[in-house]
Amino acid sequence: MDPLDALTEIAFLLERDRAIRYKSKAFRTAGEVLAGLDPAVAADPVRLKNTKGIGDTTYKVIRQAQGGEVPEYLAKLRETSSVAAKSELRAKLKGDLHAHSEWSDGLTPVELMVDAARRLGHEYLAITDHSPRLTIARGLSAERLEQQLELVATLSDDKLRVLSGIEVDIHDDGELDQTDDLLGRLDVVVASVHSKLKMDARQMTRRMVAAVSNPHTDVLGHITGRLVEGSRGTRPGAEFDAKAVFAACAANGVAVEVNSRPERQDPPDDLIQLALDAGCLFSIDSDAHAPGQLGLLDYGAERAEKNGIPAERIVTTYPVEQLLAWTNR
Ligand SMILES: [Zn+2]
Ligand SMILES: [Zn+2]
Repeated sequence: MDPLDALTEIAFLLERDRAIRYKSKAFRTAGEVLAGLDPAVAADPVRLKNTKGIGDTTYKVIRQAQGGEVPEYLAKLRETSSVAAKSELRAKLKGDLHAHSEWSDGLTPVELMVDAARRLGHEYLAITDHSPRLTIARGLSAERLEQQLELVATLSDDKLRVLSGIEVDIHDDGELDQTDDLLGRLDVVVASVHSKLKMDARQMTRRMVAAVSNPHTDVLGHITGRLVEGSRGTRPGAEFDAKAVFAACAANGVAVEVNSRPERQDPPDDLIQLALDAGCLFSIDSDAHAPGQLGLLDYGAERAEKNGIPAERIVTTYPVEQLLAWTNR
């Protein structure tokens, strides 16, 4: 087995299982080191072992792969890693409108996210790093976003269109946390609430209605902000008049996000029904912070199918031209 493929697959599976980030990072780092290594060094066990960036575990993986076997570590992961039941809806999804890179709080460069999206057979992937106010997530200033746009513009090919985007923070008053000019130049704008989730319900309703009424907004991200499981603990979602918010989404053609992350499961089932009744569009997104997490889409598709969201109401089933016609509406 190719050692680099083994290291990459291990990182991917760890990310998909949302393991602690340093774990998958170790395999990604070892992969980078190995890729840049003189083949003579890589083939020499002693020198390989003494190479910086290769630890005991990654050394073992590389040696077993070089010996023509599937490394034990990988074999075990393949067996135990949680694989979501594939829904019929999953096969209809053509892309993902919410993903992060190391430009903000993601684990890897944009290029590795793009590679992983290609492997999943996506037609498009939007790179949506955080906006300036989210300093804890290294939100992008206008200048850094401009730089990222230059990079993103070079990454598409015949099979995969890389879309420019942002996950823009929604201020307390419903204003979006990036310049109007830049928001207007992006393919995809996901607007999300990340602060003051406990705000009074009437204020929160006004805040969200204002955000989805902004002509740049395409997707309302993880709408309640709740956490239902996982290493960050749990927290209840924000309270707001969901009927009013969904009516505003429907009126403005904004898609309600079905966030695929198992710890979010946002929106809750009852809100999905309200959004269906209001005539909303939906977007099934991974909110991936590492390449392996792009595969979380399976969970979102499963939830959407269980909740009876028809494929034609889901913008991420659109082919790319139709999708762009919608975001440019
Ligand atoms: Zn977010
Ligand atoms: Zn996000």
